[in-house]
Amino acid sequence: MKRDWDIIVVGGGPAGIFAALEAVKSGASVLLFERKREMGVPVRCGEAVGKVDFCSYMDVDPRWISSEVNTFIMVLPNGKEVKLKSNIYEGYIINRDLFEYDMAARAAEQGTCIRMRCNVRELLKNAAGEICGVKVEERGELQEYYAKVLIAADGVESRLARQAEIDSVLKMKDIEPCVQATVSGVDIPEKALYLYVGTCYAPGGYAWVFPKANRCANVGLGINGKYSEKNRNAESYLRDFLKRFFPDAAVQRYIAAGVPVTTNLKVLSSPNFLIAGDAGHMVNPLNGGGITHAIKSGILAGKAAGEACKKPEKMQAFFDHYEKSIYRNFGKNHESQYRIKELVYQMSDEEYNRIGEEVLKIDIRKRSFLAVFRQVVKQHPGFLADVMRAFAGI
Ligand SMILES: Cc1cc2nc3c(=O)[nH]c(=O)nc-3n(C[C@H](O)[C@H](O)[C@H](O)COP(=O)(O)OP(=O)(O)OC[C@H]3O[C@@H](n4cnc5c(N)ncnc54)[C@H](O)[C@@H]3O)c2cc1C
Repeated sequence: MKRDWDIIVVGGGPAGIFAALEAVKSGASVLLFERKREMGVPVRCGEAVGKVDFCSYMDVDPRWISSEVNTFIMVLPNGKEVKLKSNIYEGYIINRDLFEYDMAARAAEQGTCIRMRCNVRELLKNAAGEICGVKVEERGELQEYYAKVLIAADGVESRLARQAEIDSVLKMKDIEPCVQATVSGVDIPEKALYLYVGTCYAPGGYAWVFPKANRCANVGLGINGKYSEKNRNAESYLRDFLKRFFPDAAVQRYIAAGVPVTTNLKVLSSPNFLIAGDAGHMVNPLNGGGITHAIKSGILAGKAAGEACKKPEKMQAFFDHYEKSIYRNFGKNHESQYRIKELVYQMSDEEYNRIGEEVLKIDIRKRSFLAVFRQVVKQHPGFLADVMRAFAGI
């Protein structure tokens, strides 16, 4: 096995796969390590993506689309449904396992060398203290591989950023424990996304029901320990939720994982080193969506790495450009989203009900996301600027 590469990517999630795909385009030799046995499995995700955004990055195979959604329904603590205007959200619930498997195959076809069951243990540094490779556990043995540039796309549990001396430690309050059951035999409208808000469902977060094909659905929730009842974890809230709303559904898959609900890391690079996706905390902190941000950051990181291999003397400039692009594309917006999250997730159930009742008075054709947040601002005028910025995408 070749030891010296232009680019090594750690992690075979959306960020890592798209980083590799972009990096090989530059003619670089690319090696990708993934510690799992199978690409895309297990699926630790609600699998919801915005249609336009998702489709802008690749040719989408219809097999990846489990269902198409265009209706958004918020369920209040008092049980009332607040349906927003039609076609407010054009999205897909994807089959993420198939998507990642196929995209990894495309990356391999383009020339990426993919090594499964390889756990990257640590970064290697040269005599000058610069990052120059990784130590990898491969079937019980430790091996060393070297590269000009390393891309850390190792997800929310990333160890590599810290090893590169970048402060990536998440505060407890900024990591949301999430649990999800994929259930079958449920009768819900095929095209609707349901979000249940309020402490009675998911304190400090929300619960979701995303429809999949063949009467299946992803039913999950994320909570924040600061607001939950003592001795209760996310799993116990999900158990209650399933008992209440889907007592007869069969659970086909059960997963638990953390989502970083904070602002993006400010520092996303150091010499010979880039961070992409969840490892750089690039999830939207308000709704927990991170698939397309991981894809976008992977593409930008792969491009910067490819350019740096061709012109090492300009590496710093390429990496600075990468950080600025991430901030411009979504990092800045996530700062407003974070402040809104801090507000809405501490609202009481009474407040959610009050706001929901006000929204219900609005003609359904005018019930937009902005209309909902206008009601929030009415109660909390100090958040006007953040709401406006979040909606303007700045
Ligand atoms: C319950 C839940 C529901 C979610 N729902 C949605 C949703 O509906 N829509 C949405 O957009 N986002 C959702 N997200 C967020 C989304 O899943 C992530 O933002 C996205 O997966 C980030 O992609 P990534 O490539 O950065 O990281 P990951 O997908 O986590 O990929 C990282 C990869 O790196 C590998 N790895 C880690 N360490 C090492 C190592 N040392 N050596 C080798 N390999 C390593 C891991 O095995 C993993 O495959 C959800 C998350 C959770 C937990």
